[in-house]
Amino acid sequence: MAELDRLDREFGLGAMPTSGPVRRPRQDRRSHGPVLPGLLITALIVGTIVAMSPADNMRQLRRLVGFDDDRLAAVPDVPRGRGSFSFLQTQRGSDEPVGYDPCRPIEVLVNPAGAPDNYDELVDTGLERTSAATGLRFERVGLTENRDVTTGPFPRREPVLIAWATEDEVPDLAGDVAGIGGSVAVGQPGNLRYVTGRVVLDRDVFDSFSKDEQPFAQAIVDHELTHLVGLGHVDDPRELMYADNVGVTTYGPGDREGLARIGSVDC
Ligand SMILES: [Zn+2]
Repeated sequence: MAELDRLDREFGLGAMPTSGPVRRPRQDRRSHGPVLPGLLITALIVGTIVAMSPADNMRQLRRLVGFDDDRLAAVPDVPRGRGSFSFLQTQRGSDEPVGYDPCRPIEVLVNPAGAPDNYDELVDTGLERTSAATGLRFERVGLTENRDVTTGPFPRREPVLIAWATEDEVPDLAGDVAGIGGSVAVGQPGNLRYVTGRVVLDRDVFDSFSKDEQPFAQAIVDHELTHLVGLGHVDDPRELMYADNVGVTTYGPGDREGLARIGSVDC
């Protein structure tokens, strides 16, 4: 599987890849105090926050009083400390990853031009796996002819674009790079949030896979979607996020822990 020797290149998009694997105990930032103090806080804060502001502060308020948030799905409970993972970006001054809002579905558009015949299955399976591993929810909102993959998306909320391209169109796909993936964050320093992203897959690499090799095609899609939601590469051949993929087609223990962390960010 020469194509998989170097699986891909991380899509820059302003992300600052971390230099190596990080393994840190997950912080449970969502523990709540007893009910009564919570209620008192409610009353207090409604007066101040609501006056000066809108939805975001209402969310903080709900969290403070123990309603938590309206997560679309539960984050899976996975064993920790058994593998390696890294985040593409962390919030300034903390170990918390930058991620998508777990209370909103992530809209996805697919450009089918040049895609393999089974692109629907590859995309759906990849989104299902990413969703199950993070608790994030994806919503396919249709097909598009948009090929805005070389200049990158604008930093605003818009559907993620998944497309197939050749290296002539997207030079980052040159050589044995099978795909690129990443997202764009907006917000204040310390409170960044991904709002859109791109997954671009190498048409020639996908064309080269036989029917029996579809697990490798799927692994590339899964790997790029894992970049999309915020994980970087690790120097551990057991993980799907190992850059020089040696045939791993399922998440390793560190991939699972990292994906669960990504899905655990506050709404
Ligand atoms: Zn990669």
